[in-house]
Amino acid sequence: MEVPIKKVKTSLKGRKCKYSHCKHILSIYNHEDYCHVHLGLLAYDHKPKAMKAS
Ligand SMILES: [Zn+2]
Repeated sequence: MEVPIKKVKTSLKGRKCKYSHCKHILSIYNHEDYCHVHLGLLAYDHKPKAMKAS
């Protein structure tokens, strides 16, 4: 009896982060266009800067 092969959704191998000059290779499990570093940066950028603790 054959073992059913589970297809895991992965992205293309060897994709690079789209951030300028970033040479991070994206994991096949990362479906984003940026590496984890720049994803974090971009997310941070979009946050309003009115988060001062008072
Ligand atoms: Zn990057």
